[in-house]
Amino acid sequence: MSISRRNALKIGMTTLGGLYAASPLSRMVFAQDAAADTFNTANGSVSVHPVSHASFVLQTPGGVIYNDPVGGAELYSQLPAADLILITHEHSDHYDVDTLNALMGENTQLLTNPAVLEMLPGELKERASAIGNGDSTEILKVGIEAIPAYNLTEERLKYHPKGRDNGYLLTVDGMRVYIAADTEATPEMRGLSDIQLAFVPMNLPYTMGVEQAAEGVADFAPAAVYPYHYKGSDIDAFEKLVNAANADIKVMRGPWYG
Ligand SMILES: [Zn+2]
Repeated sequence: MSISRRNALKIGMTTLGGLYAASPLSRMVFAQDAAADTFNTANGSVSVHPVSHASFVLQTPGGVIYNDPVGGAELYSQLPAADLILITHEHSDHYDVDTLNALMGENTQLLTNPAVLEMLPGELKERASAIGNGDSTEILKVGIEAIPAYNLTEERLKYHPKGRDNGYLLTVDGMRVYIAADTEATPEMRGLSDIQLAFVPMNLPYTMGVEQAAEGVADFAPAAVYPYHYKGSDIDAFEKLVNAANADIKVMRGPWYG
């Protein structure tokens, strides 16, 4: 009998999740070739599987959530199937119709920003729903609020104009997870509170530099933060700046670029 990596991951989660249940925020690696970080919630855990750049998968007590999956279904073949797919905005490193078509199972739900909903082809559009900046919904018992994601710097406004794109604030079993999407350190980001886990982008010219990202993160002070969407950026410098401002913020590393 052979155990697939997906099953191996499940077994790992069950076993280790039980062992570490007393720890409020713990980090574990389950398999060398499919690293996942797991954070305990009140009734279970949330596992983070970085896939690439802006794409990742969250295993939650209510179901499996894919964020901005692109790059072809093969990248996701070792991961559990999606119950919910979130799309933040229309750029090709966040939104890819072929990948969506391949990943949408019979019962998979698809939630996007309004602009992407309008550009989805027929069947995908029929199955999708959208929320705009400031709106909230609940799917898989996960609270979902759309946090505005946009540029602030004059020469970057063309990339992510205010009002179009979504970041997402998820409330999973009491744990607040902030997916910033492509944004600068907006007042909406800086004003967040009680965030346990955050995903924050940095790369120029599209989002922001490491200094601004670190400043924004220090302001809302998540318990843990993944730099993601950082191709070419100095995340060592990011970590130093964050921890100089607040040594309690845990900067997470993931295999975003291989
Ligand atoms: Zn973008």
